Amino acid sequence: MNIKKLDKKYVLPTYARADVEFVSGSNATLVDSEGKKYIDFTSGIGVVSVGHANERVSRAICNQVSKLTHTSNLYFIAPQAKAAQKVVNASGYDMQCFFANSGAEANEGAIKIARKHGERDGEIKRYKIITLNHSFHGRTITTVKATGQESMHNYFGPFPDGFVYADGIDEIESLLDDHTAGVMIELIQGEGGVEPQDKAKVQKLAKLLKEKQIPLMIDEVQTGAYRVGEFTASQAYEIEPEIITLAKGVGGGVPVGIVMTTLKEVLNAGDHGSTFGGNYLSTAAVCEVVDILDELKKSGDLEITSLMFNKVLENFYNNHKDIFTQKVGIGMMCGLRVKDAKTLTSIINLAKENGVMVLKAGRNTLRFLPPLTITKEEIDEGFKALESVMSKL
Ligand code: PLP
Repeated sequence: MNIKKLDKKYVLPTYARADVEFVSGSNATLVDSEGKKYIDFTSGIGVVSVGHANERVSRAICNQVSKLTHTSNLYFIAPQAKAAQKVVNASGYDMQCFFANSGAEANEGAIKIARKHGERDGEIKRYKIITLNHSFHGRTITTVKATGQESMHNYFGPFPDGFVYADGIDEIESLLDDHTAGVMIELIQGEGGVEPQDKAKVQKLAKLLKEKQIPLMIDEVQTGAYRVGEFTASQAYEIEPEIITLAKGVGGGVPVGIVMTTLKEVLNAGDHGSTFGGNYLSTAAVCEVVDILDELKKSGDLEITSLMFNKVLENFYNNHKDIFTQKVGIGMMCGLRVKDAKTLTSIINLAKENGVMVLKAGRNTLRFLPPLTITKEEIDEGFKALESVMSKL
């Protein structure tokens, strides 16, 4: 039986899969089961930050799993402690980490920290978490409720109580009350449509929350791991949040989620945990990925690649202003607003046929999340393929 038939028969149909099966990859290039090559401007939705089949990450993982893959969190785990040190150092914040297995789980941990912090904090029980409309925080029952998109709350209830949605950064202040445990935002909304928040407004909010001693929680599942030029978007926005969550790019393809916090005293033994979180396999990968990305940043190559990608994207946008209405994003989390949703779907489908993978975000945004290691040749080849897509629209 071929893979597509096998998938249809045995895998629950929760994904509307494109008709392609990739079998190998190298940096920003993928190869499908028929031997056809594609340029990957998606990096598996912002995950494969250091490229497909990265040799250093493969070697680090192989070396580790040939010794130990898993022992449980009942014992010390050397790569976990080292990964925490690397992540904290890269961020520059005085924080400690908890390791989970995904972005949603990292956000669950963040919510638990904020709520326990709120509970300990005086007589009034602080439990409310304010998030933004059009946000995306995950697919677990709690993070789906934290997600400010009504369409995602259609089934699965009753949901945990206490999530309040603001219609933008400006509205948050009016929603704060004695029960607010935290404010959780993405600095650039990813799934919501590549929507960067205004830096001055975010800084003002951060200052207000500090005064009120309400934790600011930044969901950096998509923006973290140098996606926007700094290790975290919080550094780029020059704020000092109490809680940051990471996942996707920090594992380079290995499932991992991280909650980092300055609130080091809140969780005690037994308050939170995970069987797999922080095991030898995932944290050995995190150590190598962060090393590679740190080197890329320090050498200046990250900035060169980001400038190069954005320049080519800008030219592409300027050549097709009949189709695209705006170029958006920061660093290598970028997008083009498409004039209508139907055209966007056509572009994505034709792009696949022409050998370049791109993403949709929100209702009308063509999203680009290339590996941070993408080469000039791969960028040029990808945009050449996109040019031929435009001529077929
Ligand atoms: N938060 C943000 C900002 C995301 O973009 C995502 C995934 O797209 C998540 C959370 C959920 O991450 P995961 O799918 O790893 O649970």
